[in-house]
Amino acid sequence: MAETGIALLRICAFCPNPCRLAVPEDEADQRESRTPSALAYLAVALNDGFVEPDGETQTALADLELAETCRPHCVYEFDVPAELRAFARKQWDETADHA
Ligand code: SF4
Repeated sequence: MAETGIALLRICAFCPNPCRLAVPEDEADQRESRTPSALAYLAVALNDGFVEPDGETQTALADLELAETCRPHCVYEFDVPAELRAFARKQWDETADHA
């Protein structure tokens, strides 16, 4: 069965990040925190209650430029940006419902 949702993000979070090679050398912002694996790890940490669903986390998870660059090079053929968007939508919709 194909993984989706948080199960897929959990795999990406602990993947050694081979898709990162797709990021061009002249990309201005090369921070590791913007890679798909790092964003997936942040989503997992949020899901598991180790990170607060604050504005900083929301902003970090919305920065999907490098994840989109890496997407066609995922060795598992995962669409991590789409999963991160779906995760964030669910996360902050639920937070708004309980505000
Ligand atoms: S996008 Fe794919 S290849 Fe890249 S870190 Fe995640 S699981 Fe690994």
